[in-house]
Amino acid sequence: MNIATGKKLIKNQLFGHPTGLFVLFFTEMWERFSYYGMRAILTLYLVSKTTEANSGLGWSHTEALELYGWYTMFVYLMSIPGGIIADKFIGQKKSVLIGGILLVIGHGILAYTEMWAFYTGLVLIVLGVGMLKPNISTMVGSLYQKGDIRRDKGFTIFYIGINIGSFLASIIVGYVGEVIGWHYGFGLAGIGMALGLLVYYFGQPYLQDVGNFIGDSTSKEDKEVLNRPLTKIEKDRVIVLFISFLLVIVFWGAYEQAGGLLNLYALEKTNRMFMGMEVPASWFQSLSALFIIIIGTTVARFWAKRKLKGKNASSIFKMLVGLIIMGAGFLFMSAASLQFEEEGSSAMYWLIFAYFLNVVGELSLSPVALSFITKLAPVKYASIMMGVYFAMTGIGNKLAGLLGESASQYGEFTIFTGIAVFCILFGLLVMLFRKKLHDLTHGAEDDEHIILE
Ligand code: GLN
Repeated sequence: MNIATGKKLIKNQLFGHPTGLFVLFFTEMWERFSYYGMRAILTLYLVSKTTEANSGLGWSHTEALELYGWYTMFVYLMSIPGGIIADKFIGQKKSVLIGGILLVIGHGILAYTEMWAFYTGLVLIVLGVGMLKPNISTMVGSLYQKGDIRRDKGFTIFYIGINIGSFLASIIVGYVGEVIGWHYGFGLAGIGMALGLLVYYFGQPYLQDVGNFIGDSTSKEDKEVLNRPLTKIEKDRVIVLFISFLLVIVFWGAYEQAGGLLNLYALEKTNRMFMGMEVPASWFQSLSALFIIIIGTTVARFWAKRKLKGKNASSIFKMLVGLIIMGAGFLFMSAASLQFEEEGSSAMYWLIFAYFLNVVGELSLSPVALSFITKLAPVKYASIMMGVYFAMTGIGNKLAGLLGESASQYGEFTIFTGIAVFCILFGLLVMLFRKKLHDLTHGAEDDEHIILE
């Protein structure tokens, strides 16, 4: 095995990608099914009255949203210790397995109604996601050799898996939780994760050396990489990554309005009548995932073609374009709030346009960032860097919550327009330094082409 040079024996190919990609695809699809399924019903469960037939905990909205904000932040913050454990002690492959087991147990425990079970379940899920999420993402990158242009596309395919999981979860777990019983919903999320664990376990032959602990490697290069300090090039690359993480915080701080402010906007201020029936507000929550599944590969293909033609398609450039497009999406929401002020309700198409642009932006930023990290991070810190990335998305999530709450004070129009203007200007500003940032990557993504073996 040789982790440092990326030379591995990935001979098995499926649909033009290493077969291992699909093992990780289905594992992560089920992991996200459990995560988003549970998340979809968490706040609803918290605020349901204790006296209802499908009884919840009877918390106030503020209490529920507060727990939700901390939970979604911690789930991603735990990616840092998850990354450290992988890089320093056991490798990504085993970390993902342990994370999966913790998640099955955590979601399983939530199926019980006692309070101890509720908190124990949440803690186990936070730990499980921390062990699994950053490390499975790093493994996707390890399926491709250095300079393989298929890597970005591979991450987009993986990202589509994430969103199939989230789409199915919002519908199925949401329904089971609300209609049959909250704890059945939580249990179902656990069954989903158990399926993911089975896929991962039986898919091991397709992963070969991917995700093994670098400390166990017998190759000369790997041993050398472990023992020497970082080179100047490696340090520069870490600096670019940290700067790109700033974009990540801004991006998720805006984008994650979806579950909060945009969700409430759909519920309270949007005219959802369509052909005589009222479209449920919660349906808008599955729009993003649906758009990603539909246009995911188109966006990836667009960028790959551009790159092959020699036009600018560096990761930093794509991420900036993504941030600007997503920010522009909020202008539709500014228009929606103006319409609301004039007419007392706003049309549904504003939300649809906004979600659509948010997703085009997301596809140019999120899978690209994952791929970028696997190209730039020093091998011995690969998982830690991925962990820091997810921690930044966690901070973005928390920021989104705070921003959303401030809408009650400043009004939606101000918040939506403020988000749009800030994202666009911030994106354009960093664009001015794009070349400098690209230079700091020291050619990490130049000369990419298809490498099949
Ligand atoms: N929606 C993506 C996922 O669930 C991205 C989340 C994130 O980066 N925080 O993986």
